[in-house]
Amino acid sequence: MTTHITIGISACLFGQNTRYDGGHRLEQGLLDLVAGNVVLMPLCPEAECGLGIPREPMQLEGNPENPKLLTMATRQDLTDRMRIWIGQRLNRLAGEAVGGLILKARSPSCGMRVPVHGPWTGENAYSLGLFARACRQRFPTLPIADEEELRDPATLAAFLKRAADHAQNTREDQR
Ligand code: SF4
Repeated sequence: MTTHITIGISACLFGQNTRYDGGHRLEQGLLDLVAGNVVLMPLCPEAECGLGIPREPMQLEGNPENPKLLTMATRQDLTDRMRIWIGQRLNRLAGEAVGGLILKARSPSCGMRVPVHGPWTGENAYSLGLFARACRQRFPTLPIADEEELRDPATLAAFLKRAADHAQNTREDQR
């Protein structure tokens, strides 16, 4: 049963013009597949923490276990600003009985496997984006996937099943 599940989604995948370049990455095929089964709740960490649209591109740098979020040209460290917003947003998310999250691949904020730049040991360093990492840490059982994984129908079906189960368990815990 997958009706009436709320799933958070990166706003740019939902078609909102929240990207650094003022554009979107509408994932229409995915939206069509989940329509009728879920209520999608768009969110954009970078826009909602006040970085503006458009904005300077940014990337993860430093220790892959604890990377920083820096703008690429002017080298502004946005890590603390993003973390403050994330803490506030996750406090609200905890009460929203969300079944899962669909996050934009490779984004330094939303991505599940994001290149990390800068000095480190190892040739290829990757991390979760700052928002994705915080969600994983705060809600370890919450199903999280990016849009690229969910283009596979079997993976999408399994994700929706897990999201329905998670939402049901959360509602029961909150009673
Ligand atoms: S990837 Fe995440 S932070 Fe970037 S525009 Fe999309 S929702 Fe916003």
